[in-house]
Amino acid sequence: MSSNVQSNFTALGIIEPLSRALAEAGYVDPSPIQTRAIPFLLAERDLLGIAQTGTGKTAAFALPILQRLSTAPAASGSRSIRALIIAPTRELALQIQTSFKNYGRHLPLRTAVIFGGVGQNPQVETLKRGVDILVATPGRLLDLMGQGFVKLGNVTTVVFDEADRMLDMGFIPDVRRIVAALPKARQSALFSATMPGEVAGLAADLLRDPIRIDISPKVITVERIDQRVFFVEAGQKRALLVDLLRDAALARVIVFTRTKHGANKVAMHLERAGAEVEAIHGNKSQNARQRALASFKAGTTRVLVATDVAARGLDIPEVSHVINFDLPNVAESYVHRIGRTARAGADGIALSFCDPSERAYLRDIERLIRRSLTIEKRNFARIAEHDTEGTPERHARPQKEHHGSRRQGSHNHQDGRKKSVHNRRRSEPREDPQHATVAPNGGAWQDLVTKLHERQERV
Ligand code: AMP
Repeated sequence: MSSNVQSNFTALGIIEPLSRALAEAGYVDPSPIQTRAIPFLLAERDLLGIAQTGTGKTAAFALPILQRLSTAPAASGSRSIRALIIAPTRELALQIQTSFKNYGRHLPLRTAVIFGGVGQNPQVETLKRGVDILVATPGRLLDLMGQGFVKLGNVTTVVFDEADRMLDMGFIPDVRRIVAALPKARQSALFSATMPGEVAGLAADLLRDPIRIDISPKVITVERIDQRVFFVEAGQKRALLVDLLRDAALARVIVFTRTKHGANKVAMHLERAGAEVEAIHGNKSQNARQRALASFKAGTTRVLVATDVAARGLDIPEVSHVINFDLPNVAESYVHRIGRTARAGADGIALSFCDPSERAYLRDIERLIRRSLTIEKRNFARIAEHDTEGTPERHARPQKEHHGSRRQGSHNHQDGRKKSVHNRRRSEPREDPQHATVAPNGGAWQDLVTKLHERQERV
């Protein structure tokens, strides 16, 4: 099998030390973006890649870079930065560097990663020792360039990863300043999951006669994922989340919020309700984010609450459910978010909470993905009665209809026997062990119910 593995990558022109590392990593076949991009990048062409995380795009650019640097010795004799990879977030930058290290483990090349939010001294020390490949976020890179610790005069290849996210984060001016410091004669590649006008403009300025490769998995991803929406008041969202999490089928869940503050509040609330939860967002220290991610990957943490920016680029396998606690105000972000589930051919479930103020966002999303989300309903009065009294059905009050009927065809809840998103009927008794995993603490739950009735709260 090993020789077969090697021959699949060897056929693309990949040298032995790299194909050996790939075999050791268990890569059997090149992914479509690798098959298409690697020969062109090896031939030193510029490239515009429309692809998101999960397609194997990192190896698609990392392998040709490693190969080029290992076969063309540095001109000056001493080590200098010859490949530069710019990524919008620290997590993505770290992941990219890890990939370079893995694939290049049999080559004598040095990589480093620099990003903000942590002290610069260790990064500066690493740079001083000499680096061939530098992965960087734009802010810290400019900072260290300004201080004279990073010199880009010997760069032969530059990659801009997740350019659309850089745009969202306001990094485009920084990127342009970095580009101005690069040698004119160079190879450039730009990757982006979507191609808004500004990114297309940046690509046109940066790339020379690029090969364009479009591996957008949008349609496939969207088709494979079971997507549902709950119309709720803002103040009901947390109770709904706790209610949904009673089902053990929600084994590994990412909950997205629009703001850092929202992420903290949701995480705190779930923690009080007894869930194993961590939040990741830009205000958390780098170490805290890495710890949270590791524990989520290991399965110790069941729920990861994240903002779009923090979650961007993270490769987290086997996410059973994505929950959009807030709908994103940029429709493309919805596709990125739900792409976290249904990876590697698995089916996934994406649940979105939509309050009245978010209806326009939902319309944008449905227009983008060209389909309507299935409408789910929860009887909030019954949730409340159930958990205060333990006798849900007798005390049930009529369900409040917030939004009336929307579209034909997407309703499947009318007879009350619809397929539940978590295969559990609302009327199950409280001693259900699944219950205990999320709401072991009656006080916390009581608190929730009270808040639910107030219906004032906005997250
Ligand atoms: P990326 O889109 O670069 O973030 O890669 C997504 C995931 O796919 C990462 O976990 C990679 O390690 C993995 N991967 C990349 N290329 C291959 C391949 N040819 N075969 C198997 N796994 C791969």
